[in-house]
Amino acid sequence: MSVEPRLYVEAPLEADAVLDLDRDQAHYLVNVMRRKAGDGVRLFNGRDGEWRAEVASADRKRASLQIVQQRRSQSAAPDMALYFAPVKKARTDFIVEKATELGVASITPVITQRTQSDRVRTDRMQALTREASEQTERLDLPVIHEPVSLTQMIKAWDAARTLMFADESGDSQTEPWGGEHGRARPIAEALAGRERDGKWAMLVGPEGGFSVEERTLLHAQTFVLPVSLGPRILRADTAAAAALSVWQSMLGDW
Ligand code: SAH
Repeated sequence: MSVEPRLYVEAPLEADAVLDLDRDQAHYLVNVMRRKAGDGVRLFNGRDGEWRAEVASADRKRASLQIVQQRRSQSAAPDMALYFAPVKKARTDFIVEKATELGVASITPVITQRTQSDRVRTDRMQALTREASEQTERLDLPVIHEPVSLTQMIKAWDAARTLMFADESGDSQTEPWGGEHGRARPIAEALAGRERDGKWAMLVGPEGGFSVEERTLLHAQTFVLPVSLGPRILRADTAAAAALSVWQSMLGDW
């Protein structure tokens, strides 16, 4: 099956416009995908829907496209913002790629007390969202925000946005996983009956979990909705993908 390559570009998309690809995209199209003059390509820019274009001219370093016709108009994606504590590189990459496929509107790294990550590469995250969006047929890219501390994040919060907090722990400070008392409600139960068009966010902690102090701070906020993802402790990357999947099927666009 030969599917038309799909590329994210920044330029406006409109009928009859001619667009020169940047070097990397020209390389991908010409040398990797082996497209030549006259072949079809699909383009999106996050604003103008998806367009069909044709390769007007191409050599090994340059490619220029003639935009032909709109194929899909821009549509609004569900309003779900992901906040996650950065973990090791491969797992952070996984979170960013899967969250993009699962349709989040934005991604923000959150620095918590137990976050173990020397440096957060938002440029790398950006590149991953672009690739994942091209592949997954999205019409937009999730917005990547610079890292914030958990306290800053809470302080600046818009109370109209519900923050689903993946909380595996109970209240006890002596029992394993905080014991049974004070456990969050199962996610499906916590989301049942909630409005579909609301503003949402979700928060996943680092491998070491949230500190008692952080968990107390989160529980004290009226906009926080603690949810449990079942009786097993999940890795942060699994927790993010699982929670987003349940949310999408109950309140999103699945
Ligand atoms: N408390 C743990 C594990 C943290 S798991 C420890 O001390 O090692 C990483 C993150 O994934 C958690 O902070 C939480 O946000 C999420 N998570 C994992 N399993 C979960 C579950 N069963 N329910 C809700 N959230 C969970």
